[in-house]
Amino acid sequence: MTETPPAILPPERFQQRLLAWFDEYGRHDLPWQQDRSPYRVWVSEIMLQQTQVTTVIPYFERFMARFPDVASLAAAEQDEVLHLWTGLGYYARGRNLHQAARVVVEEHGGTFPVESLEAMAALPGIGRSTAGAIIAQSTGQRAVILDGNVKRVLTRLHAVEGWPGRPAVERRLWALAEHYTPEARVVDFTQAMMDLGATLCRRGQPACERCPFEAACVAHARGEEKRFPESKPKKAVPTRTTTMLLLQDREGRVLLEQRPTSGLWGGLWSLPQFDDREALAAWLTVHAPSSELEPAWTPFTHVFSHFRLEITPQPARVARLDSVGEARRWYDPAAPASIGLAAPVKALLESLAPFALTTTAGP
Ligand code: SF4
Repeated sequence: MTETPPAILPPERFQQRLLAWFDEYGRHDLPWQQDRSPYRVWVSEIMLQQTQVTTVIPYFERFMARFPDVASLAAAEQDEVLHLWTGLGYYARGRNLHQAARVVVEEHGGTFPVESLEAMAALPGIGRSTAGAIIAQSTGQRAVILDGNVKRVLTRLHAVEGWPGRPAVERRLWALAEHYTPEARVVDFTQAMMDLGATLCRRGQPACERCPFEAACVAHARGEEKRFPESKPKKAVPTRTTTMLLLQDREGRVLLEQRPTSGLWGGLWSLPQFDDREALAAWLTVHAPSSELEPAWTPFTHVFSHFRLEITPQPARVARLDSVGEARRWYDPAAPASIGLAAPVKALLESLAPFALTTTAGP
C-alpha cells in the first residue's frame, strides 16, 4: 500500500530505512570493501563506471595483484595497464587511471588528497561523484555521491522531471543527495545507495515490492517508475518540403536534372525540384508550355540524418520538348541508364517502370 508521498523525507527516516535494508540485504563482501584504502576504492570506482560488479571483481583482483599501490601503478608502462584493462571496455578509464596515479605520485607525494573534494575531483577521470565516493568510502568523512544508480533512485523517489544531464535537474538531484546524506555511517550509506540502485531500483525492472521506500516513492505511487530518470531529449529534426516534377513525354521518358556538385545529392540526377506547385507551374509555362499538370501524388517523407524531406511528386505530360536545356536529360524508366540517382528519385522512377504512360498512383 502507498501512503501520500511527502515532498521530501526527513533525512533521519530516510537514513534509518536505508541502513536497515542495507544491514540485511546490502553487499558487504566485495573485494574493495576489505582494506578500504583510497587507492583500492578509487580503482574499484573507476572500474565500476559503466561495468557490472560481477564483471569487475576478477579485473580488480588481477589489477591489485600486479599494482598493489599507487606508486607501482604510476611506475608502470601504459601498455601494461591497458593490457590488464583489456575486456573491461571504455579504455579512456584505464588511461586516466594511469595518468591520475602519476599525478598523485608527482604532485601529492603518493597520497590521495582525500581531505579536499576539489583536489580529488581535479584528478584525471574523477568527477564530483567519484571524488565523493572515494572520500566517503575510504575515510568515513561525510561526502555526497550522485552516480547513475543514485540518480535513478532519487529521480524516482521524488518523480524529478527532466533529463538529469540538464544543469537545473542535476542541481536538484545534488540538493536531494545532500539532504539525505548522514554524518555517521557514511561508508555504509553510500554503499547502500549504490546497492539499492543496482539491485532493486534497476533501470528495466525495479523490485518496488522489496524496496524500503515503496510507501514513500512518488514514481511508484503513480505507477511511473520506468518514466524516471528521463532520457536525453532528442533534437527535433526539422522537416523541409519540396515538390518534384515528374514530367513524362509521350514515350514515357522522364525529365531529370543534375544536382549541383556541392550540397544535397551533389552531382546526382534528380527530378526538377520546386518550393511548391505554383513555382513548378510557372517553370513549366516557360520551359514546356504545352504540358499538362495532373493531380499531385500523395507526399512521402525521405529521412536524412539532420532533417526530413517531405516530397510531393507532381506528374505532368508533354507531347514533346525540343530542348531540355543544360544539365537535364530524358530518362526511360523501362530501360534505365546507368547514372547516379538520388535515393527517393530512384524509388519513384522504379515505381513508374512497370506502368504504362497512364500511371497516376504514388509510390
Ligand atoms: S519504490 Fe521502486 S521505483 Fe521507488 S525507489 Fe524503490 S525500487 Fe525505486
